[in-house]
Amino acid sequence: MDIELQQVGYAYAKGTPFEKRALYDVNLTIQSGSYQAIIGHTGSGKSTVLQHLNALLKPSEGTIKLGDLSIEAGKKVKHIRPVRQKIGIVFQFPEHQLFEETVLKDIMFGPLNFGVSATEAERRARVLVEQLRLPADVLEKSPFDLSGGQMRRVAIAGVLAMEPSVLVLDEPTAGLDPRGRQEIMELFHQLHKEKGLTTILVTHSMEDAARYSDQVAIMHEGTCVLNASAEDVFGNEERLARYRLEAPRAVQFQRKIESLLGHSLSKVCLTEEMLAIEIALARQKGRAQL
Ligand code: ADP
Repeated sequence: MDIELQQVGYAYAKGTPFEKRALYDVNLTIQSGSYQAIIGHTGSGKSTVLQHLNALLKPSEGTIKLGDLSIEAGKKVKHIRPVRQKIGIVFQFPEHQLFEETVLKDIMFGPLNFGVSATEAERRARVLVEQLRLPADVLEKSPFDLSGGQMRRVAIAGVLAMEPSVLVLDEPTAGLDPRGRQEIMELFHQLHKEKGLTTILVTHSMEDAARYSDQVAIMHEGTCVLNASAEDVFGNEERLARYRLEAPRAVQFQRKIESLLGHSLSKVCLTEEMLAIEIALARQKGRAQL
C-alpha cells in the first residue's frame, strides 16, 4: 500500500485559544514495500505525522492517501476500519498497553476484535511467539510476570497478529538494553524482507536509520524538508547540521579516516561493517596506509 501526504498541515486544538500548529505543507511519499525512516529533532513533527498514518489524526489541511483511501481535510471519511487493520503501529513503550490475563489473550485481542475466528487468532499467536523468540510456555502466563524485553515482544506480537501490510515503528527500542535493541531491530528487518512489509521507522537513532532504511525523510520545524536515500541523507553532514542532526558514527569515523588519508573512500559507509570493507578494499588497491 503506497502512502502519500500531500500538502498536509495540522494544528492541535484548532480554533481554540490553545491552538498549536504542528505541521505545515508536508509532502511525503512512502512506497509500498520500502523501509522508510523518519528522523528529526524533538518537536519537529514526527509523532504528529505518525498519528496521521492510520488516521488517528486527520489533516487540518491537505490530503493523505493510504492505499485507495483518501483522507481530505474537512471531509468525512468512510471505511477507515479496513485500512487501520492493514497499518499496524508499534507505539513507544507498547507494553504499557498490555492488559489481558494471559499473553495468549492479549495477542488474540486485536484479531478477535476485527472478526478473525478464535482458532485463527490462536494459530497466529502461536506462530508469532515462536517468530519473536519467546518461550512457548509464555502464552499461558500473565504478561505482567514477564521481563521488560519479553513484554515488549508480546506487545509487538499483538500488532503483528493483525497481519498488517504496513508497520509503523515509533522508537521501538526505547528503554531496551543494547542487545535487546539490536535483536528487535533485526527482527523487524527480517519481517520487512521476508514478508515485504512496508516499514516506517520513527527514530532518534541515526545508526538505526542508516543501517536499516532505504529512504530517510527529515522533519524540521513541522515540515518534511528532505526525503532521499540513506546514502544521500547521511553523506551530507553540513545539511544534517542545518537540521540539528548528526551523521551516524560510521560516517563520522569515515570522515576522520578520509582526512588522515587525504582522499575520500569510494562510497558513504552507513555502518561500521561497510566502513571496514571499504578500508580493506582501499588497502588492497594500495591507497590506504592504515
Ligand atoms: P516530535 O515527534 O518530532 O518530537 P511532535 O509531533 O510530538 O514532534 O510535536 C510537534 C509540535 O506539536 C511540537 O511543537 C509539540 O509541542 C506540538 N504538540 C505535540 N503534541 C501536542 C498536543 N497534544 N497538543 C498541543 N501541541 C502538541
